[in-house]
Amino acid sequence: MEVVPLPEHFDVVVIGGGPGGYAAALYGASAGLRIALIEKNKVGGTCLHVGCIPAKELLETATVYRHVAGAKEFGIEAGQPTVDFAVTQARKQKVIDQLFKGLSGLLKQRKITVYDGHGRLHAERRVTVDGGESGEVELTGDAVIIASGSLPRSIPGFDVDGEVVLTSDEVLSLEEVPSSVAVIGGGAIGCEFASMFSDLGSQVTILEALPKILPGCDSDAANVVSRSFKKRGIEIKTGVKVGGHQPSGKGGTTVDLGEGGTLDVDKVVVSVGRRPNTDDLGLDGTGVKLDDRGFVQVDEYCRTGEDSVWAVGDCIATPALAHVGFAEGIAVITDILGEDVVPVDYGKVPWAIYCHPEVAFAGHTEESAKEAGFEVVTSKHRYMGNGRALIIGDADGLVKVIAEKNAEGNGGRILGVHMAGPWVTEQLGQGYLAVNWEATVDEVAHFIQPHPSLAETFGETVLSLTGRSLHG
Ligand SMILES: Cc1cc2nc3c(=O)[nH]c(=O)nc-3n(C[C@H](O)[C@H](O)[C@H](O)COP(=O)(O)OP(=O)(O)OC[C@H]3O[C@@H](n4cnc5c(N)ncnc54)[C@H](O)[C@@H]3O)c2cc1C
Repeated sequence: MEVVPLPEHFDVVVIGGGPGGYAAALYGASAGLRIALIEKNKVGGTCLHVGCIPAKELLETATVYRHVAGAKEFGIEAGQPTVDFAVTQARKQKVIDQLFKGLSGLLKQRKITVYDGHGRLHAERRVTVDGGESGEVELTGDAVIIASGSLPRSIPGFDVDGEVVLTSDEVLSLEEVPSSVAVIGGGAIGCEFASMFSDLGSQVTILEALPKILPGCDSDAANVVSRSFKKRGIEIKTGVKVGGHQPSGKGGTTVDLGEGGTLDVDKVVVSVGRRPNTDDLGLDGTGVKLDDRGFVQVDEYCRTGEDSVWAVGDCIATPALAHVGFAEGIAVITDILGEDVVPVDYGKVPWAIYCHPEVAFAGHTEESAKEAGFEVVTSKHRYMGNGRALIIGDADGLVKVIAEKNAEGNGGRILGVHMAGPWVTEQLGQGYLAVNWEATVDEVAHFIQPHPSLAETFGETVLSLTGRSLHG
């Protein structure tokens, strides 16, 4: 009689090894759970291999280029810089490889069993794996976490060929800097690519269907970026409905801008968001449901309709950010352990956009606070008056704080902090804490900021909401 081996059993089986999945795996293992992690490509996911890390690494190259090009202002003659993009790409890969090695080592150290292959969920929390180096495997888990992430989206008329029409996946491995680029979509990733290409010498046009770029950002912060982009020669066309494109015969293409005419470019970068990667997850016979856009349906605890099955990260309809995936992974493990869970407060997560100038924010915009019924007071301070910003030669931008109006007409509870300018992605921390601790203006205003530092602009902005100010 043939002996059929029993599926290997784990406390938790995680499908997908991106930030959502690997955070759950690492955190769960640190709590003593026995974890299986299934990944069909490389652990680290979009974020490490074709997302956050490579995008920010290439943006750093753009920053170095900008600094060298502007060195003359500091009395340093460095001449006109040129880019050897092969070296740039090699450095990017080195950073990825180092982080990949570190993550793989950590998973091993925590005794997480990593399966190489495609995972599918079936009834009774049975998970099959195939198509990879681990061969055909069957597992069961007391708990299962779906963390299958997302894929780039395109739009009708722009079939991604990897040559002329690119998504972020192809942009991040380009072999040379194109001379002209149309970026379709002026969201966070589109603006990052526009900024990078412009700094590296491309002629860039952003094509955005909405009335402004960076929708979702506070208008004052978004305006800082629009003005800076225009000054640097980045053309921004809003309210544009692109219709498709035709090869121009010069190796490039002509983009149909509808009523806005046409645009000849070398490359088209489609940056119109991502779609959940949930087409082939099995799920038959389970209570896991997808919504009409393909996102796994979950409640505020990331629980699906199937008992003891959770979903985290880009495959659920929450902000598509790596750190949101981390937070959800941690929250789900806490739930699995039967401990008290604080669900992620999606209205207060930190956002960071690494174009030049950078944007970072947490909490309500002025518009959304008013829409939510708050009576608000706001304060804005520009980096132009900040000594450190002038010293580093990067004083374009502002900090804006939105607070609930108190009985005296000054700022009460801090509802939102929005920044655009130098290193704001590294400066948001205080604003994030203020918003999430529901701190009041009075509680934060007496905090001391080091001098000279960029953080003084945040301090000044909060101080002036008390009704008194120093330099404001
Ligand atoms: C260009 C770009 C820049 C970005 N920049 C930032 C940034 O600066 N900051 C930020 O917070 N976010 C950024 N993001 C978003 C961030 O990358 C994602 O939010 C994050 O990677 C989502 O993590 P995840 O674990 O949900 O999914 P993913 O990272 O997509 O990982 C999912 C993993 O699951 C695997 N998988 C899928 N299905 C299966 C299956 N059935 N079996 C086995 N394995 C499977 C995939 O191979 C993949 O490795 C950026 C994204 C892009 C594209």
